[in-house]
Amino acid sequence: MSDVRNVIIIGSGPAGYAAALYTARAALKPLVFEGSVTAGGALMNTTDVENYPGFPQGIMGPELMDNMRAQAERFGAELIPDDVISVELNGDVKTVTDSAGTVHRAKSVIVATGSQHRKLDLPREDEFSGRGISWCATCDGFFFKDQDIAVVGGGDTAMEEATFLSRFARSVTVIHRRDELRASKAMQERAFADPKISFIWDTEVIGVDGEVKLTGITLRNLKTGEVSELPVTGLFIAIGHDPRSELFKGQLDMDAEGYLVVEAPSTRTNLPGVFASGDVVDHTYRQAITAAGTGVSAALDAERYLAHLA
Ligand code: FAD
Repeated sequence: MSDVRNVIIIGSGPAGYAAALYTARAALKPLVFEGSVTAGGALMNTTDVENYPGFPQGIMGPELMDNMRAQAERFGAELIPDDVISVELNGDVKTVTDSAGTVHRAKSVIVATGSQHRKLDLPREDEFSGRGISWCATCDGFFFKDQDIAVVGGGDTAMEEATFLSRFARSVTVIHRRDELRASKAMQERAFADPKISFIWDTEVIGVDGEVKLTGITLRNLKTGEVSELPVTGLFIAIGHDPRSELFKGQLDMDAEGYLVVEAPSTRTNLPGVFASGDVVDHTYRQAITAAGTGVSAALDAERYLAHLA
């Protein structure tokens, strides 16, 4: 089994790099698949990160991720900017196949593939990410003090985001495709009772406006077809997330929404030697620091698993 690695890590967000740092410092020589398109994970698409502890002045998302990457590499993590396209996770030796068809073998695997926030698929949506468009009120609400902002969505997350944002914003307009909300009664009542929150029903966002930063959005009423402009400097898209767990279907247990299931508080999955961390598991907190935290837990769980094999 000389070509069998101790550990392969799939994913390069805070969870993957934190797992890489810890397993590298434990002399396990981790092999990390970073992904071909978004090495560095979700924070590569944002600007200021003000809530990652240790950076009192804040840090740009890509710089934070470059630092995490360099720190893991410094201790010997081997990083490959490629996608894993298939896995075989049963048995003592797991196999991971990259996009060139090369098969890599390891005694343990840490899954840290994250989740993808659903987009509205608007022209310039990515361009305005971190410049007015956000998918996370906890992360970015503070930047919108005394501003007029909009929230898209009608579920619990959208109501939670709207209610949270009303602490900072001058006004919050919820835009929803239907004429009623999917959110729980309690969340709805809280939002309806909030004097800063108003609702635009039966309406979708069809465009974003602004030079460098967002200055407004274009709306279309789905019943009348009427097109209108809403001047806002923030647009929070709260229409859900999709965990990147497709690769593991039929092998790893997942919940109804596709999030991987672990034996909390550990990161153990249903298969021995396979650990999962970060946003592919977590639909509650979804923060860089919590993802990094569970990445560390996965590294320590993998270390202990490997120690018992020896
Ligand atoms: P991710 O960061 O999503 O990384 C997953 C990685 O896995 C990706 O690089 C992907 O390419 C890779 N991957 C997936 N599938 C494969 C595969 N098959 N093969 C190889 N690689 C694969 N949180 C904060 O705490 N503060 C903030 O200010 C903040 N701002 C945010 C701004 C934006 C725009 C977004 C989208 C999120 C923000 N978040 C913020 C949330 C935070 O980014 C996430 O909670 C965190 O990145 C999750 O980390 P993760 O490691 O689980 O996954």
